[in-house]
Parts: sequence; structure tokens; C-alpha cells
Amino acid sequence: MVREAFAESDSLTDVRSVLEERARQTGLAGAFARGLQELVSCVDSPLAEADTAVEAETRAVEASRRIVRPVLEAKLQARLDQLDRDSRGKTRCCGCAKLCQSKGRPGRGWESLLGALGLKRRYSYCDDCEKGRFGAQEALGLTDSGFTPRLEEVCTMIAATVPYGMTVRIIGSLCGVQLSTKGIEQMVERRGEAVSMLDDAEARACNPYDETGLPVQQARPEDAVEPSAAPDVAYVEIDGVIPITREELGDEDLTDADRQRLAQAMQDKARGGKGRRFRIVGREVKNAVLYDGKDCVRESAERGSILDKTHVSCLGSWLPFALLLWTAMVRLRFDQSRLLVVLSDGADWIRSLAEWLPIPVVLILDLYHVKHRIREVAYAVWGESSQSGREWARVQCGRVEEGRADDVLQALQFIHPDRDHAREKVDRLVTCLENNRDRMDYPDYRARGLRISSSGVESANFHVTGARLKLQGMRWSADGAARMAALRADLLNLRWERRTRQILAARAQVRKERCLCWQHDARRFRTWRSRAHRHGAPLPSVEKLSRRPRQGQRPRQGHSQRPRQGQGQRPRQGQGQRPRQGQGQRPRQGQGPRQGHSQRPRQGHSQRPGWMVGLRRCIADLCWTHHDRPGPAHEARSP
Ligand SMILES: [Zn+2]
Repeated sequence: MVREAFAESDSLTDVRSVLEERARQTGLAGAFARGLQELVSCVDSPLAEADTAVEAETRAVEASRRIVRPVLEAKLQARLDQLDRDSRGKTRCCGCAKLCQSKGRPGRGWESLLGALGLKRRYSYCDDCEKGRFGAQEALGLTDSGFTPRLEEVCTMIAATVPYGMTVRIIGSLCGVQLSTKGIEQMVERRGEAVSMLDDAEARACNPYDETGLPVQQARPEDAVEPSAAPDVAYVEIDGVIPITREELGDEDLTDADRQRLAQAMQDKARGGKGRRFRIVGREVKNAVLYDGKDCVRESAERGSILDKTHVSCLGSWLPFALLLWTAMVRLRFDQSRLLVVLSDGADWIRSLAEWLPIPVVLILDLYHVKHRIREVAYAVWGESSQSGREWARVQCGRVEEGRADDVLQALQFIHPDRDHAREKVDRLVTCLENNRDRMDYPDYRARGLRISSSGVESANFHVTGARLKLQGMRWSADGAARMAALRADLLNLRWERRTRQILAARAQVRKERCLCWQHDARRFRTWRSRAHRHGAPLPSVEKLSRRPRQGQRPRQGHSQRPRQGQGQRPRQGQGQRPRQGQGQRPRQGQGPRQGHSQRPRQGHSQRPGWMVGLRRCIADLCWTHHDRPGPAHEARSP
């Protein structure tokens, strides 16, 4: 085309007219011509007198986006066309798995890194379920959010680094895309949820214990390192950090003045002030840093550095964190290391966690934490400028380093401060020393060349959590902080791009399963119908079956959650006909939140013959209209 354009012309003006003609074409050729037109106009516009390299480069970058954008659009369109052609007449409904009807190919826009893209794709609609889907769009990984996955990837990456408002400005300046703060927030929300979901699924798969708390055969993530990469000495440093989060006040917590102020603000549509409806609470983000002993290097006598670290970060109680940590450990094959060292400040939950780990570990109390506590006692008892206090602290620190913690405890018996503050400090030091006696054999650790400082996780507390969650004046919602903690760990582990692909793959998998599940149901229904005919059983009336379920009788939400057929026929002692409800609520040890069948109360008619129960359910499901259904199938487990 280029050759043609130049062959037919002697000047740039002629080239332009040839391209203009070509640009009217659809498809890649047209897009190419449109791109070239942009290039020509870029060539045509000379730099102004006052323009510097800044303007020149800015304009060139903008032009490059305009030049390539039509090509990207045409390529995606070509792919959508192909997918639509291939699936013509084959798209099945997500609800009933029946073939859907094509309702044409409407167009819509997506914001991308190169600018807006307008694409057409087939809309397939199921009349029975009153529900439609865009098969080709789904297959391409384009969501309904209106942003391409790559744009979301970049935006969330920046949003995990700087505040949302700043993200909007950076994206606008670097990528030329104008977004809103809300849009960025929603992107982070979507990604954070997907990441947490994936992490949770992986952690459950790698859980070293089963539901009864017994050890199971260890599963390993797919991307685990090679067996030969198992470290000789592996380190895990654990600590917690507390970002400020907010908790919404209930109506009963508000004072009359608060209520008046809120009503007034509502009436005035005032900006700001809404934060006052919240109570400020600190929630602990638990951090861990994992590294191979080989990756510790000395820069100087006082300073060392860790070349390669893996971060785990989680807001919540220690068990979900322990599961995440264990997943990271088996990924790095730390469970196969000769020696596993856990360094911490001696907090209770870390000790519980170390005991929970299914392999033996060497727990070491961070030496600098102990020294810090000793100095705190000295300052509290004798005052900061006191020479005797400093001397006392020096002697006790020396004793700790020599592994003589008992001597320190003895020395503490002679200290009886008058002030509460000092007494508290003394008590804290005594508890710390008593609880960690067996984790303070520093001469031995030093002789074995082990690390005795948890400075890695202290730095992670700032770099992973503090730098985004603990900035001045920040008040996170609990969910927002939890999501950001997960995203920050991803960011520092350099897993961002890989995660995007993982999320897309997981979404595709859920869609596939959803369809398979409904196909499965349809098959069950057909089996039942043929059985009913064979045995001459009367077909229950559709009206009867399709009525809404009674309270506590939710229709099933996908077969994986459904109790097995026939299970309900077993006579249960003391239960009679009563639908079992409490059974599923039993807390599970060592498990994250479950969305399995345990949450679903049993249906009332569980004493009927199994196939009849299944049939009724199938019919009922097939007959409910979209509006009657309590929600899209599988809502409970799809991300
Ligand atoms: Zn349908």
C-alpha cells in the first residue's frame, strides 16, 4: 500500500489523497492507512519557534498513540469477528445452557493505553432466562468495566504505589488517558478481590492440614521453584504493623450533635465531613519476609543486605496469614531446607504460627528488640540522661548477647520503680525474657553463622505496608486495607503482570464451569424425565415446582455445593424430618472462609427418593424465571 501510494504520487499531498481513499476501507488495511494518515499529519506539523525538546517529544508520543491505535482496534476487531464466526449458533446460555439467539453485533467503547477503542461483538440472548452474553468479548478477556485489562493492570500498579488522586494525574500525564478517582478505586477493588480470591484458593490447596487437623500430602503451587533450588538455610522473618483504619459508627453510637451535623451536611450536599461518621481503629497487617541464607551479603561491618526477598502481607488474624505464608514457603521449597529459621520480636501470635507450621523451625528472638526493651527500662527507671542507667543497660545488653538472659532476670528483681510507667516497662521486659528463654542463645546462633536480627521484616513493615497504608492522615476501610496489603505484596514480589494473566484465566475458568454445571443440570433433568416416563411416575405440575422456595429453602447454587443425592435418606438420630441447618456451621480448623455446601441449609423434602429430589430441584431451577431466582447461579463462588 505504501509503495502504491508513493508510486502514484510525486508529492506528500498525493500520498495523502491516496491514503484518504484507503482509510475509508474497513479492516487492517484501512486501519493501516488511518495510522499512516496520522503519521503524515505528524510529519506535516513542524515545530514552532518556541518549542523545546519537551513539546516535540510530548507531541511525538501523542502521535505515536494515534498512529497505532487504529491498528490495535482493527486487530482486536478481526479477532472478535473470527471468534463470532466460529461460535455462530453455538453460544450457550449461562443459565440454562440452551443455545442462545443472536441479537446482532452492537458496538461499545473500551478505554485502552492508546486511547478509546470501539469494537463490535455478538450479543447472544436467552429468552428463557432473559439474560445475554458476549461470547467473543469474554474470550478476548475484555470485561464490562470499559477498560482494557492492560490499562487496568497499569492503573492498579500505579494506584498500589501512590494515592488514587495522584494515580489519576500520573496516568493522565504518562498515558494520556483521563480517568476518575472513583474509576481507579473500582479497578483496585476488582483486582484486589481477584488477587485475594486466587491467594485464598491457592492457600487452601496447599493447606498442610485437612479439616480434622491431620497432616496431608503436601501440594505445591504450579510455579514452585525447582527441587534443586531448595535452600540450605532458609529464613522467615515475621512481624506486624498497624495501619489506621476506620469503622462505621452505628446509629446508636452517634450523639445528637453528630446526627444534626450529618443531616445538615446531607441537606447541603457538603463535601467532606463524612469521615466523622467513623471510629478510628488500628488493624494489624502481618508481614513476612522469606529469603535464602545464600542471599544475605555483607556490605560493611555494620551493614548487610538481602539480595532476593519474597513478601507475604495480610490483614487479619494469624491463621489466614499462616496459610499464605506456608504457600509461599512451599513455592520456594523452604519446607525442604536443611534448617528453617524464624526471626521475630517474640509476639504471641508468631509463636502460635511457628508451632502451627508442619516442619521443625529454629525460633530466634530479634536481639535488637531485647536491647531496645532493656534501654527502655533503664530510661524509665533512671531517666534518659542518667549515667548509671546507661551503664546498667550496657551491662544487661552484654549479658543478653552472651546468652545470659537469666542473669538479666535476676538483676530485674532488684528494681522496684515507683512510677507506673516504669513498672510497666519492667514487667514487659520480664515477660519477654521469660517467654523467650529458649530463643536467645545468641552465642550459639553466631557460632553457626545464623542471622539474629529481623531487620528485613522491619524494613518490609515500611516498604510493603507503611509506604502506602500508613501515610499521614490516611484512614482506610478494613476491606480497602486488606486488598491493598495483598496488592502491595504482589507489587514488591514483581508478580504484577503474571497476576493479570492468572486473573483472566481464572475468570475464563469460572465461566466455563458455570456453563458445564448448567449443562450437567439439564442432563439430569432429561434423565429424570425419561425415568419418570418409564416408571409411569406422574410429572409434578410446573406451577407447583416453580413456586418460590420457602424461607430457608434456597434453591441450589451450583452442583458443587449441593449435598449428594441420597444423603438425605439416611435416617438421622434425633433429627427426624427437620432440615439440617446447624450442621454446616461448624467451624473448620485451618481453613479460610468457605463457600462450599456447608453454608446451604438442606431442602425440606430430603426424605423423598433421591432421584425425585434431584428432579424436583432441576425442574424447579429450570422453571424459575430469571427474576424469581435469588441470584445468578454460582454467584457465591465466582469472583
Ligand atoms: Zn437460558
